[in-house]
Amino acid sequence: MDRAERVKQILELLDKNYGPVKCYLDHENAWQLLIATILSAQCTDERVNIVTKNLFKKYPSVRAFAEAELTELETDIHSTGFYHNKAKNIISCCQSLLSLYNGEVPSDINKLTALAGVGRKTANVIRGNIFGIPSIVVDTHVKRITKLLGLTDSSDPVKIEHELMDILPEDHWISYNIQIIAHGRKICVARKPKCEICFLSHLCPHITPVIKSTT
Ligand code: SF4
Repeated sequence: MDRAERVKQILELLDKNYGPVKCYLDHENAWQLLIATILSAQCTDERVNIVTKNLFKKYPSVRAFAEAELTELETDIHSTGFYHNKAKNIISCCQSLLSLYNGEVPSDINKLTALAGVGRKTANVIRGNIFGIPSIVVDTHVKRITKLLGLTDSSDPVKIEHELMDILPEDHWISYNIQIIAHGRKICVARKPKCEICFLSHLCPHITPVIKSTT
């Protein structure tokens, strides 16, 4: 089977098994998703959603975050880890949103990545989920599983992003990330992929054989 056919079948199976996609980070608008995504670095989405539930009540606007007191915000987001840098970045990012963009979140990738705490991954989350601009988010799940599926040889997220843009149809750019995260959580888990129940196993060159116990 050639690669194009394999990609087509992988996408069909991802659609079938994980269905329509929804962003895992709870948010009601662009700036909330921006802050939730900054908080999600090295933290689970579940933990971020627990923290933002109260956080967005306490700080109900970009201005409220821009004017937040650093140590107080650090305490508020403490359980997401790396709280000092995250709090500093959130305040600085929101100050820039106010001074440069009238409190709005821009859609331009260069403007987004110029904001404190916003890398290419975060920018693509915003572009894809808020503005519907086709973009491919390469996080640890996408990096690892794309490689296992033999769709890239690279470990460089930017290179993988561009390789995926070449082989995935544009209407799957946003969903691929979200479905692969689901796959990485449920089946292709990092420590021990459950290849024996994986619906992609017949398309995956890195299927792990089941070792039967002899005892
Ligand atoms: S077959 Fe195994 S390694 Fe390949 S995607 Fe499925 S779980 Fe991951």
